[in-house]
Amino acid sequence: MRLTILGCAGSFPGPEAACSAYLVEAEGFRLLLDFGSGSLSALQRYVGLNVVDAILLTHLHGDHILDAVPYIVVRRYAPDGPYPPLPVYAPGGAPDRLANAYSLDEGVLDDVYTFYGLQPGTFPIGPFEVTVDRVNHPVETYGVRLEHGGRSLCYSSDTAPCESLLRLAHRADLFLCEASYLDGVDNPPDLHLTGREAGEIATKAEVGRLLLTHLVAAWGSEAMTHEAALSAFAGPVEVVRPGCRYEI
Ligand SMILES: [Zn+2]
Repeated sequence: MRLTILGCAGSFPGPEAACSAYLVEAEGFRLLLDFGSGSLSALQRYVGLNVVDAILLTHLHGDHILDAVPYIVVRRYAPDGPYPPLPVYAPGGAPDRLANAYSLDEGVLDDVYTFYGLQPGTFPIGPFEVTVDRVNHPVETYGVRLEHGGRSLCYSSDTAPCESLLRLAHRADLFLCEASYLDGVDNPPDLHLTGREAGEIATKAEVGRLLLTHLVAAWGSEAMTHEAALSAFAGPVEVVRPGCRYEI
């Protein structure tokens, strides 16, 4: 598997990064995990406009889904003719949310996206074995584990600490984990993780490598978040950036 970071800014686009979007490839199949604000630009810069084979949206917060709206134009009005419907795995409210965001008058997206509602469980997408489970965030949110060829990647999505994330991350070769909050601050509960908490989960789950994402550039500190995660996890830790690629 190969992971390409398209966007990694938490909550709103940062000066150097779009919001959450991660492309995972195997056997030539390209699965996009989340499609946050600004990431359609990064998709073109780092991979290509029409290269996506399926999309998985972990939850319906705008910073994880909103570039699926301009992507409707990309697919529907391509100069060489419309593209076939793209599979989109997402919480059940996704069709209405994206249709309303696109246009209240032209709401049906069936020609562009074929939606599959997410539920906890394991299922195939292309060559990947995908396991999703609910995590600890105020809306219906799924953490994701992808397996292929004996290798595994876990993506936390947005979450506070929870048992389901520990299970999803168990012995993953690569753990892409959010670290939105600074440690030592009075953070709201049941919303996000700090760098130290991401490191603690990585240790408990015995992952091979920890990648930190969803940092909020304007409110946080990359150096402090990285240091906090390193203090709780003995393995390799890195803060991701747009364009970074990882072989798994
Ligand atoms: Zn969220």
